[in-house]
Amino acid sequence: MDLGLRGKKAIVCAASKGLGRACANALAAEGVDLVINARTESELQRAAEEIQAAYGVSCVAVAVDITTEAGRAAVLAAMPNPDILVNNAGGPPPGNFRDWGRDEWLAAVEANMITPIELIRQVVDGMSERGWGRIINITSSAVKAPINILGLSNGARAGLTGFVAGLARDVIAHGVTVNNLLPGSFYTDRLRNTLNGLAVKSGSTVDDIANQRRAGIPAQRFGEPEELGASCAFLCSVQAGYITGQNLLIDGGAYPGTL
Ligand code: NAP
Repeated sequence: MDLGLRGKKAIVCAASKGLGRACANALAAEGVDLVINARTESELQRAAEEIQAAYGVSCVAVAVDITTEAGRAAVLAAMPNPDILVNNAGGPPPGNFRDWGRDEWLAAVEANMITPIELIRQVVDGMSERGWGRIINITSSAVKAPINILGLSNGARAGLTGFVAGLARDVIAHGVTVNNLLPGSFYTDRLRNTLNGLAVKSGSTVDDIANQRRAGIPAQRFGEPEELGASCAFLCSVQAGYITGQNLLIDGGAYPGTL
């Protein structure tokens, strides 16, 4: 299916690897020109070169911390009028809420709520004036089913989700949709690091920990980043113009509810 995206322009944040990279790849495969971002310049530059070589689109790398005002300004300077914005950043650390003070909460809210809202604020009116836009926020299955040790993520991402629900209804009449992707367990460096950490803590092997985790997922496997990337590209497509304000759970059936 032709998604109708050839020649569109997208900013994809936190995209040198993992889920952001998968979204960048999937959009590039549809002929979308990109600005991608991450903090580690060498890895990001390599990703941009690989994307350009594989898909023949323009891919500009902006190596900054997207959770800072200066970082967001640099990304927007590289592409002031995107047709598509994919919001993403690192997730907050796990822990016990009794150990978190104001600073930890402010950092989580800054990274996972205010950063995407600020980027949306800078681009959404331009999209509306041009009559077409797609905004995707990578959040987490924790928005729908909170994960106890990820309280910072549960809280900050729920705040973003609430804001987006209102905004989506405000801009759809101008051809702009806003949707969230909620990953369950995807096999990225982040998940690999978590599994390593759990193995060290419990004295088990990484394979044993990974197998236990897989066994708890109805699909009996972790998600592949490309699967989330493909969902991102579809939600950005012309065919998805009537889908807005949605939270698409991509978790191999892990969430047990009917709705
Ligand atoms: P990953 O494989 O570790 O990749 C993270 C990417 O984000 C890298 O490109 C990283 O590059 C970049 N990044 C991190 N912090 C950044 C910042 N402040 N500014 C700019 N770029 C930044 O992680 P992932 O698994 O793809 O996770 C992406 C998001 O999805 C996270 O918020 C995570 O919590 C969420 N999520 C993931 C899963 C999962 O199963 N993987 C499940 C639920 C939610 P640099 O380090 O060089 O900046």
